[in-house]
Amino acid sequence: MIKLINITKRYGDGKQAVHAVRNINLAVAAGQIMGVIGESGAGKSTLIRCVNMLERPTNGQVLVDDQDLTVLRESQLPAARRKIGMIFQHFNLLSSRTVFANVALPLELAGMSKADIKHRVTELLELVGLSNRANAYPNALSGGQKQRVAIARALAPNPKVLLCDEATSALDPNTTQSILTLLKDINRKLGLTILLITHEMQVVKTICDRVAIISDGELIEEGEVAWFFANA
Ligand code: ADP
Ligand code: ADP
Repeated sequence: MIKLINITKRYGDGKQAVHAVRNINLAVAAGQIMGVIGESGAGKSTLIRCVNMLERPTNGQVLVDDQDLTVLRESQLPAARRKIGMIFQHFNLLSSRTVFANVALPLELAGMSKADIKHRVTELLELVGLSNRANAYPNALSGGQKQRVAIARALAPNPKVLLCDEATSALDPNTTQSILTLLKDINRKLGLTILLITHEMQVVKTICDRVAIISDGELIEEGEVAWFFANA
């Protein structure tokens, strides 16, 4: 479902150049949960942002659902990105919109009718366990609830892939556990492919099928989580 072929991302030029990601090859099969783990500054965030072209790789190809995103023009990216949802460490909700309106936003942008939006948002809020908070504003929610809203919003366009950028790093251990359980649930129910980055081994242990370890921009190792922990 996701194929990164020889991805390099360099920020800046000449003496100031930083090679954030170097010649990384990585494949995530449909329905899999892949974790990318590494220290702060290892290049995890850059790598995951290359998957939906929030960062354009300096070299290499990014294939999502067999489509090469690196050959697309800026104007062609929004359509391709509907296959790729993303959630973030700090949730990135719009504080002036209610829970319902945050989740509805991508559907409004896609031109869906009011009646269809109502139906879809209701279904999504049920999926993430927030039906009773539809009219609340983000400021009134706990961290875990905010991340549930962000997950519902990311799933609204019915993507095939969900990217999680340190999605539980701002949450306490119990809330982290409940969000990971929700992600696993969604993975099973919807067959969603998940690529997540984290600096916490526990996150990988809890929900990932496979893990990739990156250090200083390079892929050090990649394999099944069960194998990895049996041999670590
Ligand atoms: P991680 O997510 O693993 O913490 P990042 O991908 O954020 O790693 O960063 C990898 C390297 O790239 C770091 O050295 C960081 O300082 C550098 N970097 C990240 N973003 C930029 C940017 N926009 N401009 C210049 N350097 C950057
Ligand atoms: P927090 O612990 O920060 O309040 P959680 O992520 O644990 O956040 O829960 C967020 C909301 O989702 C809460 O209102 C909770 O009642 C509800 N919730 C949690 N798990 C489920 C579930 N499996 N089904 C339905 N609702 C749930």
